[in-house]
Amino acid sequence: MLTNDHLDAWDRDCFFHPSTHLAQHARGESANRVIRTASGVHIEDRDGTQLLDAFAGLYCVNVGYGRQEIADAIADQARELAYYHSYVGHGTEASITLAKMILDRSPSHMSKVYFGLGGSDANETNIKLVWYYNNILGRPQKKKIISRWRGYHGSGLMTGSLTGLELFHKKFDLPLAQVVHTDAPYYFRREDTNQSEAEFVAQCVASLEALIKAEGAETIAAFIGEPVLGTGGIVPPPAGYWDAIQAVLEKHDILLIADEVVTGFGRLGSMFGSDHYGMKPDIITIAKGLTSAYAPLSGSIVSDRMWKVLEQGTDENGPIGHGWTYSAHPIGAAAGVANLELIDKLGLVENAGTVGAYLQEGLRAALGAHAHVGDIRGEGMLAAVEFVEDRDDRRLFDPARKIGPQVAAALLEQDRVIARAMPQGDILGFAPPFCLTRQDADQIVAATQRAVETVLG
Ligand code: PLP
Repeated sequence: MLTNDHLDAWDRDCFFHPSTHLAQHARGESANRVIRTASGVHIEDRDGTQLLDAFAGLYCVNVGYGRQEIADAIADQARELAYYHSYVGHGTEASITLAKMILDRSPSHMSKVYFGLGGSDANETNIKLVWYYNNILGRPQKKKIISRWRGYHGSGLMTGSLTGLELFHKKFDLPLAQVVHTDAPYYFRREDTNQSEAEFVAQCVASLEALIKAEGAETIAAFIGEPVLGTGGIVPPPAGYWDAIQAVLEKHDILLIADEVVTGFGRLGSMFGSDHYGMKPDIITIAKGLTSAYAPLSGSIVSDRMWKVLEQGTDENGPIGHGWTYSAHPIGAAAGVANLELIDKLGLVENAGTVGAYLQEGLRAALGAHAHVGDIRGEGMLAAVEFVEDRDDRRLFDPARKIGPQVAAALLEQDRVIARAMPQGDILGFAPPFCLTRQDADQIVAATQRAVETVLG
């Protein structure tokens, strides 16, 4: 058997990790952890250390770890048919069934599902579909995409551009010219503290209107947004935000892409964030929770209105020139079918709503009065605690102090609970599996309180 020493050396010598300080890792200055197994809400490393994963991997293992039903579905599919492509009308029982199951759960105006592998490629697909759509409609100049600062839509060339976080642009020559960014609906960080939520929403709308005017509505194809900002800080929108934004988009004939990679299939306590906030998107991006990450699979759910134009496009131009070798991979599709069945059978969407609310209440009770806690927020099984130097003026800590990462590290070291220091700002994020119990939530809250006290007193 390999020892951890071997693995540690090979890891540092051979493995190019994503989202990692490469030099520190290669030099052995930052920790690594080799995960061996997992069950329920716990993961276990090769040293036998058990950790409560309050971020469900990367908010994706929604049904929890070690589900036999999904493992069996994957194994059965691999034995029967590990692969066949889905080009020119091919499919498998699993991929066709999954498309039907997704549409049965989606808002009623959605029409078809295009399958990919991960959230980034699904959003790349979406932008290509939007461009194709406008070309078919004879509007070749209507191509720009509006995204929000602090939005996260992936790491590709286009999707990294859509992402509104500096780290994903810096030194990569992004964003590309077709992408423009508008304000994040981040009420806590509003400039004018006296502003009501309604006034703040009006300001977001005015700044969107100003951007559209400056660019020219005839050049703007779509607006992309997560129902709740995720990686940008776990920020639910202020009341009325989506209604107000959608009114502007409709007025200017701008498509709406709801990026539900995190929120799709139950994380907010509703099947889709679009249902939760009354959004009527033209495309919904899905990934993560589609298979609970038991296998890579993503999708773009397109609306009736888009589908009609796409059909017209292929009548005029022949087959659509867009496909991945692994689109609708049978193993991913089998995992997806078993995963969605399990979510229904165990009532996990409801649990995400009720236990998620309980977790948030617990965090508020434990930390709401702390001198360096500026905001506690969330929706369903998504929560965040934002730290501030000063509560009254919401002053940020010096980023060099890395308060968020320090609290996350203390949480891990002291109580073996994983939360995520979000990449921009001192924000501790929680996104546990939906099977979290109230006792697990109590444990997370108590551990977080201790970690905050250790770092901030
Ligand atoms: N969209 C959202 C909202 C996400 O949170 C993510 C990943 O975290 C992505 C897209 C990109 O997905 P992937 O990492 O699978 O490419």
